[in-house]
Amino acid sequence: MTSHIRDVPDYPKPGVVFKDITPLLAEPAAFGAMTAEFVRIATELGATKVVGLEARGFILAAPVAVDGGFGFVPVRKAGKLPGEVFAVSYQLEYGEAVLEIHRDSFQPGDRVLIVDDVLATGGTAAAALQAIRECGAETVGLAVLLELTFLDGRARLSAEAPAMPVHAL
Ligand code: 5GP
Repeated sequence: MTSHIRDVPDYPKPGVVFKDITPLLAEPAAFGAMTAEFVRIATELGATKVVGLEARGFILAAPVAVDGGFGFVPVRKAGKLPGEVFAVSYQLEYGEAVLEIHRDSFQPGDRVLIVDDVLATGGTAAAALQAIRECGAETVGLAVLLELTFLDGRARLSAEAPAMPVHAL
């Protein structure tokens, strides 16, 4: 799968090497293998819902939900969801961002797997975790395609949820 991920230097700003997953999405065998692996993880963890994080997390999580028979729940950037939301703000390198989730996204007993493309500092996943918690649901794991280990997102997440498994394909 890694052969389908492209390094883009100096994006979105000088000095950053961006991991571009669009070549993988364009390759059905690789996209399918990734989806199958996410479904396996979700099944093993006993998930009932998959949460996708805007925007690339939507692309990855939606086929997992369909193939594995899980409900799909979007976590979106501020102002995009039409219903009542819980909002969680979190720190970016410069400034702040807000993630939102519909308050009625889950039923009692739901077990949630968060799916995203990249785990970097862990700020986005930690905010999603908080939003899911506000809804009263349990997050049973985080699954990403890629982890940028030098940014130590795992440490950030283990401060939030020490027992939560983190899977990076
Ligand atoms: P974090 O909050 O962990 O620092 O950043 C993770 C979020 O930023 C993810 O939602 C991910 O989509 C995005 N992100 C950060 N760096 C990269 C990258 O190099 N490639 C891609 N595809 N996404 C990234």
